Amino acid sequence: MPRGVKKSHLPSRICATCGKPFTWRRKWARVWDEVRYCSDRCRREKPAARNASLG
Ligand SMILES: [Zn+2]
Repeated sequence: MPRGVKKSHLPSRICATCGKPFTWRRKWARVWDEVRYCSDRCRREKPAARNASLG
C-alpha cells in the first residue's frame, strides 16, 4: 500500500464540458452517480456538438 496518502481520498471525475478533473463534493452526495460537470456553468455549456452549425 502506498504511504503518505492524503487525509482525504474523495472520488474524482472528469468534467464532460471543460475536461478538468473535479472532486466529490458534499452537495453531490446523493447524485454523485449522475454528476458529469464540475459546475453549474459547465452543466449549461455542454460540449459543442460536432456539427455546431446553428446560427
Ligand atoms: Zn467543467
